[in-house]
Amino acid sequence: MPGGDGTGPIGGGLGRGGGGRGRGSGFGQGHDGECRCPNCGHHEPHQLSVPCYNRKCSKCGAPMTRA
Ligand SMILES: [Zn+2]
Repeated sequence: MPGGDGTGPIGGGLGRGGGGRGRGSGFGQGHDGECRCPNCGHHEPHQLSVPCYNRKCSKCGAPMTRA
């Protein structure tokens, strides 16, 4: 089970304290983060099961990108 570290912020949403860098290696695995709309700038929390580019902006309907 690659990349499963057991920290799943479900229902937390925004405001995750911040300042916690230092996870060593393994960046860019599509862990958590945000999806951003290149059209209107709206952003939403990224869902693990749904790639950002498969999502549509809830405001304008444009495909979102990884923030
Ligand atoms: Zn949008």
